[in-house]
Amino acid sequence: MNMVSIIDKKRHGLQHSADEIHWLVNEMMADRLPDYQLSAWLMAVCCNGLDMEETTALTAAYVQSGTVLDYSRLFDEPGIKVIDKHSTGGVGDKVTLVLLPLLAAAGLKIAKLSGRGLGFTGGTIDKLEAIPGFQTALSNEAFCAQLKTLGLALSSQTPELAPADARTYALRDVTATVESIPLIAASVVSKKIAAGADVIELDIKVGRGAFMKNEAEALELARVCREVGERLGRPIATVISRMDQPLGFAVGNALEVAEAIQTVRGKGPKDLTELCLALGAQLMVKAGMAETEEAGCLRLVELMENGEAIEMFRRWVAAQGGDVRVIDEPGLLPQARHRIPVLATSAGYVSDIDPIAVAQAALDVGAGRKAKADAILPGVGVVLHKKVGDAVEPGECLADLHADEANPVEVQTSLGNAFVLRPEAPAYSPLLV
Ligand code: URA
Repeated sequence: MNMVSIIDKKRHGLQHSADEIHWLVNEMMADRLPDYQLSAWLMAVCCNGLDMEETTALTAAYVQSGTVLDYSRLFDEPGIKVIDKHSTGGVGDKVTLVLLPLLAAAGLKIAKLSGRGLGFTGGTIDKLEAIPGFQTALSNEAFCAQLKTLGLALSSQTPELAPADARTYALRDVTATVESIPLIAASVVSKKIAAGADVIELDIKVGRGAFMKNEAEALELARVCREVGERLGRPIATVISRMDQPLGFAVGNALEVAEAIQTVRGKGPKDLTELCLALGAQLMVKAGMAETEEAGCLRLVELMENGEAIEMFRRWVAAQGGDVRVIDEPGLLPQARHRIPVLATSAGYVSDIDPIAVAQAALDVGAGRKAKADAILPGVGVVLHKKVGDAVEPGECLADLHADEANPVEVQTSLGNAFVLRPEAPAYSPLLV
């Protein structure tokens, strides 16, 4: 085999054999493929696609390029399923912080490896690190011990899982080849399989604030991920949710932790709660803890309301070394020095809140990283006071900017511009597709 003929084949839209794909990934990992050849192949894939056989082979090759975790011998009881969830990423997405303790309270076992964020707000690891003392770099032994005793462990992603994906992703990022459904599916699914879960849940976002800009693309990505999972023996459940405005009210690390705590108590924003329950209900069924999604959802609501979910959150924070006092006293979370209101200048209904503009405002005050090595400010960000559909009077507060800088006028102005007010209420657009 040689790379020129493989590139040429894909350039002409022909199908690769599984052997060709495994060869390519092996050559790449052995540093025998120059970036220009790999980039040319990625572009050919972007233009001509991969079919299900090819996508499955690429996913399997990514998985095999590194360590594959296995929890099958961790539990004494037979038939225990370890679950994992993944979101394709969105503004204000703190679902993991809510869903993990909620499901663990229901008796599911959850092993989750998460990443830091680059751009906009932080990733799940950054959010959890806003809790003073919370340790996110668990050793494999500590991770497994906590999974066994608590039923829930979360740690930062290790570079040993699916390293071929990381290598490819770095090139995709700089060659305009990220937006390819088979490449995204292979990337996401391989990391989840390598992380060892028996049941995987994917929250695929669609809309302006997401990778997938329209429903047809999101549905196709969901279908491809599910089919690859099925072919590789890992059931994958998918939910498609809209990312046309931020999820919940809070955007920024400590602010999102505080909102997640409220949501675990059953007092969170409606959209965030709805999404957590939809994802959770599917997982309850897939893990064999509920007969139907409706029954799973009712059980999860009960756990929020009877305090068992927040108790699990407390035990989780304690197990990972965090200060559990933040759960009852959110004022102990890192706080920005200033809270700057953004006021409405006219009356109307909020017809749009651009999630990217809100995320940019949070990034500009320091909630995210512009470069990989940047430090983030855990207390800063944005808290919305209005969501799409809400009525607004002149002078009412649309959002608060939480910033360390006293007078970030430009950021304040651009945050205000993220809101569009119109005389009529907008048509209702459901969160779940
Ligand atoms: N997220 C991933 O992990 N991989 C992709 O290719 C796109 C989004």
